[in-house]
Amino acid sequence: MKFNVAVISGDGIGPEIVSEAKKVLDKIGSKFGHEFTYTEVLMGGVSIDAHGVPLTDEALETARKSDAVLLGAVGGRVGVDSWYKLPPNLRPEAGLLAIRKGLGLFANLRPAYLYDELKDACPLKESIAEAGFDMMVVRELTGGLYFGERKTEEIDGVMTAVDTLTYNEEEIRRIAIKAFDIARKRGSKVTSVDKANVLDSSRLWQKVVNEVASGYEDVTLEHMLVDNCAMQLVKNPAQFDVILTENMFGDILSDEASMITGSIGMLPSASLAAGKFGLYEPSHGAAPDIAGQNIANPLATILSAAMMLRYSFDLDKEADAVEEAVRCVLKDGIRTVDIMSEGMTQVSCTGMGDAICERL
Ligand code: NAD
Repeated sequence: MKFNVAVISGDGIGPEIVSEAKKVLDKIGSKFGHEFTYTEVLMGGVSIDAHGVPLTDEALETARKSDAVLLGAVGGRVGVDSWYKLPPNLRPEAGLLAIRKGLGLFANLRPAYLYDELKDACPLKESIAEAGFDMMVVRELTGGLYFGERKTEEIDGVMTAVDTLTYNEEEIRRIAIKAFDIARKRGSKVTSVDKANVLDSSRLWQKVVNEVASGYEDVTLEHMLVDNCAMQLVKNPAQFDVILTENMFGDILSDEASMITGSIGMLPSASLAAGKFGLYEPSHGAAPDIAGQNIANPLATILSAAMMLRYSFDLDKEADAVEEAVRCVLKDGIRTVDIMSEGMTQVSCTGMGDAICERL
């Protein structure tokens, strides 16, 4: 099959890590008989340097016409790079908001997986880390508190601020369907997280999720209050498969889930639109402190490419192969400097990409 991937290398370590992910995609292409073509799209600081804005309309259109988008990272050193003298809406990170909005990306997927070989980096008690975990946080990305009406005003001489948490049933239904579809590709369990004992929006959330669940009899559904979920993530993370939740709860819980893996250079993410279209990027940033040194860990980006294979192209076998190659490399003691430990073999960013390709 043929796929056209819009590639946004971005700033900092972006070009280095994206180039390793492309190397891995090409290897998958030759092994499984697919052809990936890449269209470079400028976003972030490099786009500001070239066009004066972090994302041009033409760049957004190119991304929209592609089958999926692979993104490295954007941004530089705040207070050092000249990009940060610009108003906030013209800085590199504004490109991220513009592309998410422009592409209608409403579902954010953040897996948190504990590799056997990296268990030492897990900040949880050994007895908990021993059981391992493999979960996917599915977060609604374009509604809720962050997008509701807000105002700050003086009422009877007292400054008062209001933020509004709004969801309609269609917004809930489309994210719930994504979560159940994803659960079918994984462990067939959805934990829907809300605050239904207090919030009307959560009670509607539960009702709609229950309706969607009736069409997925092969997937187990449970409801959990958000405060309990925050505790369960550190007490018994092995219980989770897919966590489905609204925007703000998901913002907090996905960071908590990332933290318990202990290794930021390993965490991929995806943001999906309706249908199969999605944007895939590592969870970490542009790491300007190590840019250009060929020492960045490309695994989060390579695993993001694996998510692209699975969720946008329905190439599950190919995605499994990439994830298995990552496990093999770790088992063989190959490490970039950020995850290096005694007795292991340290490799560069390109060395890690090569090691993955060899195992494929
Ligand atoms: P960061 O994730 O870029 O870096 C945090 C620390 O982790 C740094 O010490 C860095 O060297 C290290 N690190 C990150 N990724 C790594 C990798 N793959 N391999 C090895 N080490 C890695 O976060 P930050 O320092 O807060 O942000 C730096 C810049 O990135 C800022 O301009 C920020 O706005 C931007 N940023 C962009 C995105 C994005 O593009 N989605 C996300 C977060 C931050």
